[in-house]
Amino acid sequence: MKKYAMPVIMLAVFETVAIALWLTKDNLFYLFNFSYIGISVSLGVFLFIKKYRHARRVVQLLVGLYMLVYLGLICNENMQIEGFWYYLFTGVFEAATIHYAVAKIFGPLIFGRGWCGYACWTAMVLDFLPYKVPKQPRKRLGWIRYITFAAALIFVAALFLAHVGNLERIMFRAFIIGNILYYVTGIILAFAFRDNRAFCKYICPITVFLKPMSYYSLFRVKCDKEKCISCGKCRRVCPMNVDMTDNSRKRENGTECILCMECVKNCPKGAL
Ligand code: SF4
Ligand code: SF4
Ligand code: SF4
Repeated sequence: MKKYAMPVIMLAVFETVAIALWLTKDNLFYLFNFSYIGISVSLGVFLFIKKYRHARRVVQLLVGLYMLVYLGLICNENMQIEGFWYYLFTGVFEAATIHYAVAKIFGPLIFGRGWCGYACWTAMVLDFLPYKVPKQPRKRLGWIRYITFAAALIFVAALFLAHVGNLERIMFRAFIIGNILYYVTGIILAFAFRDNRAFCKYICPITVFLKPMSYYSLFRVKCDKEKCISCGKCRRVCPMNVDMTDNSRKRENGTECILCMECVKNCPKGAL
């Protein structure tokens, strides 16, 4: 039974957050929201332990669709970065701000970029494309993410400074248009660079939060040098060009790891 400790711990952590937020915010939504995500993540870990090869995709679809369709389209909550700035500026510590705090700002100190591997609704679609392993070397285009990050911030700040009315409606429209732009750009880049995750590597503004925080991540893939035979298979299957054979935090593209576990699954010596 010991091997099932991890999904139980994950569920317990999410339930603790769910109950704490439910009681402190006096809002039943938080109990439902974090319980659902906790059950989805725990199910994924359980399926991974059972060696089900699509375990990650199951979690990605369960959480990604819930966020995009239920929270975004049905509840009209802008869960993109503009939504985060919007709720932050209005001083409301609600769904989008809590979501960013847990999944993208402080959470990565524990689970790194697990969000990117298991929950993001943009990557949920991009991961269906044919280039699961990049077919071209990585480009030096990471600077673009700072432009998209600044553009989102300037867009929301301008709305506030201009005292534009009906901001809720505008934010919902921005959510729809933003998502369409992300998907179209992500798909074009994936085919242009023959790399499903090109959007994540060069464009996504959320990585401005994710990368520095995940540098200190508690959960990391580590290499047992005694077992490793330097065959290089792990690096060939990594979608994010990480050098996981280097155990230092300064490993090449270390803050890009999405904890997909492809390297771990493919290591012939069980060194990872
Ligand atoms: S980098 Fe951005 S688009 Fe890619 S998975 Fe992470 S949050 Fe989603
Ligand atoms: S796949 Fe395993 S054995 Fe091969 S280089 Fe990577 S860690 Fe070492
Ligand atoms: S293959 Fe390994 S190092 Fe690369 S992103 Fe997945 S878990 Fe991280």
